[in-house]
Amino acid sequence: MRQRVRNLLTILALSFSLVVTSCASFEFTQAPTSTPTVLKPTPTTTLTPTSVPPTPTLTPSPTPTPTPPPIVSTEPSSVNQGGVAVIKLVTSSSLEVNGSLNNGHRLHFAQGNGYYFSIIGLEAWSSPGTYTATLNLRYADGTETSMTTTFEVATTDFRVEQIYVPPDQIQLLDPVVVNSEKEQLNDLARPTSPEKRWRQVFLVPTEGEISSPFGERRSYNGGPPDGYHEGVDIAAPQGAAVIAANSGIVVWAGPMKVRGNAVVIDHGLGVYSGYFHLDQVLVQPSQSVERGLAIATVGQTGLSTGPHLHWETKIGGTNVDPLVWTEREIP
Ligand SMILES: [Zn+2]
Repeated sequence: MRQRVRNLLTILALSFSLVVTSCASFEFTQAPTSTPTVLKPTPTTTLTPTSVPPTPTLTPSPTPTPTPPPIVSTEPSSVNQGGVAVIKLVTSSSLEVNGSLNNGHRLHFAQGNGYYFSIIGLEAWSSPGTYTATLNLRYADGTETSMTTTFEVATTDFRVEQIYVPPDQIQLLDPVVVNSEKEQLNDLARPTSPEKRWRQVFLVPTEGEISSPFGERRSYNGGPPDGYHEGVDIAAPQGAAVIAANSGIVVWAGPMKVRGNAVVIDHGLGVYSGYFHLDQVLVQPSQSVERGLAIATVGQTGLSTGPHLHWETKIGGTNVDPLVWTEREIP
């Protein structure tokens, strides 16, 4: 019996040691598998995408970015006689541009933000119909090309206005007097200063009704129609404020025979505005004026049948309807 118990105990001790050793061996074999040696292959697989370098070489391929071709247009596409058309050349390229209309009128271009533009003043008697502008472009590398754009000049029905001039003013209708003053104004408005000084739309320079629009044919004291109205008349009381329609430099501030006390402002790029028959003149020649500044008061000096402001605008020496500049921003 004692022998049996001893045997049993040895069996138990042996199986226990076996369990222990098996457990120990299990732990031992488990340990090396969880060691970083198993992780080693993984970094190599994540490293294999180092074969990506070929892709970056693909990204520089779209370097030949094509410059979009220039776009030319005329705004608006239909203009009244006495109106203003703007030819716009939209381009990101630096180039030289000039051109002409099919009637021979030369186009002068100035640079805007991302475009070149030319402002065309259409005389009140300009022929109606289709006008073609041809633009000659010269790129920095010497390449040349030409483009065209067209616009319509619509017939405008200008009225004939009968004007009765009192005997003491009749001498102001003398063609010699009228023409010499016209020459004087043309000389004042001939220079094309390179800087664009105006901004936004032009302001109507005094408050009041338009008593005589631009372009009207005029008959003096019952005579045949002679010439046309080169500006607009705004009926306003004597002494009412006259403001600068836009910013610029005063090139005339003083009396004229037919137009009376006058102010002429250079807005740059060949654009001028004139204010006539004034009572008081509040500015000096060479003075820089801001859009909206009070420059004079309404009067009836010169050839005038009552207090009003006669307001003119010129572009490239051509008289155009001043109200056009108040209706839209040019260019
Ligand atoms: Zn007038």
